[in-house]
Amino acid sequence: MTTFRIPWKGRLLGAYYYATLPGRWWLNAAAARDNNAPVMVLYYHRVADHKPNDWTISNAQFRREIDWLEANFDLVSLEESQRRIREGNSRASVSITFDDGYAENCDEALPLLIRRRIPCTYFAMSHFSRTGETFPHDVAEGTSFQPNTIEQLRSLANAGIEIGGHSRTHADLGQITCEQRLYDEIVGGRDELVRDLGVEIRYFAFPYGLHENLNATAFRIAAEAGFAGVCSAYGGYNRPGDDAFHLQRIHGDADLVRLKNWLTVDPRKVRRTERYLYH
Ligand SMILES: [Zn+2]
Repeated sequence: MTTFRIPWKGRLLGAYYYATLPGRWWLNAAAARDNNAPVMVLYYHRVADHKPNDWTISNAQFRREIDWLEANFDLVSLEESQRRIREGNSRASVSITFDDGYAENCDEALPLLIRRRIPCTYFAMSHFSRTGETFPHDVAEGTSFQPNTIEQLRSLANAGIEIGGHSRTHADLGQITCEQRLYDEIVGGRDELVRDLGVEIRYFAFPYGLHENLNATAFRIAAEAGFAGVCSAYGGYNRPGDDAFHLQRIHGDADLVRLKNWLTVDPRKVRRTERYLYH
């Protein structure tokens, strides 16, 4: 899938971003003083320099984004994000996550985070690391990228990257009503990762992650199975006082202005985003 880029749209967003930045700066400073700064969680998929698609960002662009994030936010773990949601947040924070487990992320992106000691949660799937099969969304696009091997995931965990669960087979959990199948995807997938890697798996990220891909029963299964939190991916901010179990995430956009626009809190996005309620 290729995104058809309309040049004037990028320029309009740039103009909007810079025009509203002073107002945002003021609002963000006031929120920080009130211990109510946003707790943001980003998700990336694939960082690589060849065969770009909608879920790929180049290594150079990823480094630029990390440089900007490091200069402007507290970069924290998901556990620390949840603590700030529960107890208050005096400086805007960002937690970095990845979904799926693309082998190429081990070339530059993850070593960069490890070198700089930036916390990261890496949502992977036992099935693909065990079999080497291509992810279904790549098959659907006619592409084929290597998933991380079990050895790669083990060495990431040893280097301090937190491994999370992303279901067993990247199923759309929003479409599944059978509780046993949901359990198999969420808890079965986690238990296989635990067996393969010998680490604790504390967080779960819904495949696809939009409202229609979420499922109230799945939230309950994850909570009962002892997960510390679950992540969606439809875009959204977390604030102190929100439900800390459900972490809303924002896409790690390959366009720096779009990313800056999100992370400095676009009031239009605050208004338009409806938090998924599961109970
Ligand atoms: Zn995914």
